[in-house]
Amino acid sequence: MLIVSACLAGFPCRYDGKKAINTAVQQLVKEGKAIPVCPEQLGGLPTPRSPAEMKAGKVINSDGNDVTEAFEKGAAVVLEIAKQYGCTGALLKARSPSCGKGRIYDGSFSGILIEGNGKTADLLMRNGITVTTEEE
Ligand code: SF4
Repeated sequence: MLIVSACLAGFPCRYDGKKAINTAVQQLVKEGKAIPVCPEQLGGLPTPRSPAEMKAGKVINSDGNDVTEAFEKGAAVVLEIAKQYGCTGALLKARSPSCGKGRIYDGSFSGILIEGNGKTADLLMRNGITVTTEEE
C-alpha cells in the first residue's frame, strides 16, 4: 500500500482550492493500492489557504504567519496513517512545502527552488518510507 498526495488523486485540497490530477495516481487509489492524504488539511489548515514556503526549517505563509506547527502536525498524522496501513512507500507532489522531495521553494515566494524536502516527505523518509514524486 502506498501513501499518495490527495491533490494528485484529484481532491481539491491545494492552497488555492484546486487539484493537481495525475491519472496514474488516481488509478492507484481506484484500485485500492493507495491512500490519498493531504497533510496540510490533516494539520488543521483550511482550504483555500495562503500559500506557504519553507525558510530555515520553518514554514511561513505569504501573510508572514508561522504555520510550522500545523505542517508538522499534518506530517505526524500522515506518518501514523502510513504505519497503520503498513505503507512502505509514498508518491507525493513535487515542490510542496509538505509533500516535496529534493527541491522546494526557497521561502521568497518568487519561484526560486532550493535543495530540501517538505515537512511530510522529510518525516516519512526519516521513518524508513521511500518517497518519490509524480515527476520522478
Ligand atoms: Fe497536495 Fe500535499 Fe499540498 Fe495537500 S499538502 S495540497 S496533498 S501537495
